[in-house]
Amino acid sequence: MILGLDVLGSNPPLSRDKTLFTPGPLNTSAATKQAMLRDLGSRDAEFIEVVRDVRSRLVGLGDGHEEYTAILMQGSGTFGVEAVLSSVIPQEGKLLILINGAYGERMLKMADIHRINTVSLRTTEDTVPSPQLLREALQADPQITHVAVVHCETTTGIINPIKEYGEIVREFDRIYFVDAMSSFGAYPLDYRGCNIDYLISSSNKCIEGVPGFSFIIAKMDGLRKTKGFARTLSLDLYAQWEGLERDGQFRFTPPIHVILAFRQALIELEKEGGVTARGARYKHNYELTLAGMQALGFKAYLKPENQGYIITSFYYPSHPNFDFRTFYELLSEKGFLIYPGKLSHADCFRIGHVGRLDASNVKSLMSAIASVLKKMNIKLTE
Ligand SMILES: *Cc1c(COP(=O)(O)O)cnc(C)c1O
Repeated sequence: MILGLDVLGSNPPLSRDKTLFTPGPLNTSAATKQAMLRDLGSRDAEFIEVVRDVRSRLVGLGDGHEEYTAILMQGSGTFGVEAVLSSVIPQEGKLLILINGAYGERMLKMADIHRINTVSLRTTEDTVPSPQLLREALQADPQITHVAVVHCETTTGIINPIKEYGEIVREFDRIYFVDAMSSFGAYPLDYRGCNIDYLISSSNKCIEGVPGFSFIIAKMDGLRKTKGFARTLSLDLYAQWEGLERDGQFRFTPPIHVILAFRQALIELEKEGGVTARGARYKHNYELTLAGMQALGFKAYLKPENQGYIITSFYYPSHPNFDFRTFYELLSEKGFLIYPGKLSHADCFRIGHVGRLDASNVKSLMSAIASVLKKMNIKLTE
């Protein structure tokens, strides 16, 4: 059964705010925002305890508790990805990136900036990189030491088979990075089962916290060997971990309020029934959105078998009156924010299914879209 948010015991977002159908930052509960109304010392025992609690809850969201640790890193999700790329690969290392969207491309850009020896396996944005190609690439190039992939490529909403890749990476005994930014908290993730060495996500996606930090779930035996590999001071993952382990403190000013909100968000995730229940709520949002949009005459960009339930890309309809800017503005006036597209080859916009949203919000969005189409004089169905 899918629970509506009203029965989850946490207040809805404040009504003056728009409803965000984006991939994040997302609507958060009132209690999550209220958790920020504190002033804590960054080196005081109370805050140190909050950080310890958050780190342990994060590790507890997957399996393999004893082998993994959670490291919080100031900055948005990109900072977390860059922390991993720039502090885990030694000078003589070589990185393989599987790319099928903008976030894979972003990793490639980072690797270039840090002058990391990198190769990429690129497929089109509507296609999952084939595990067989990964196997061939690892077979052909024994110099590759690290493999990176995005779980849910938020560019389109496609879900990449991280478990299959993980099995191949394990077979070749390489180090495996997964950018699970937009899926962590919504898809059950089995760190050990997927052979993940470093998983990256952030505070403002499916955990439903506010923006301000990223976190890395790292397998400790590998992490221990990376001392001194960092190519920057502030994003040094090993040093950040060492500091947190030594005295529970951050090296540099932590986003205290964001972490307080995040702890509340983790408590609410647990209350909802954990990742499985949250995933079911999001999936229901997705199914309602897809059915509603198809009924209005819109077409989804991805084939259903590749499509996840985080975010969906829809083609611009080929109607002479359709103009995305107008469509977006009219929806915004009604209190709904959708998301522009990010595709290189097709004109699409996106609708997110995550955050403090349930079926009632999706139904309201669908009626708003119907009335905006009417106002724009667009009829897509017979
Ligand atoms: C959101 C996101 C990021 C990080 O984006 P920031 O804007 O830096 O938070 C990275 N990868 C994926 C797949 C994402 O969805």
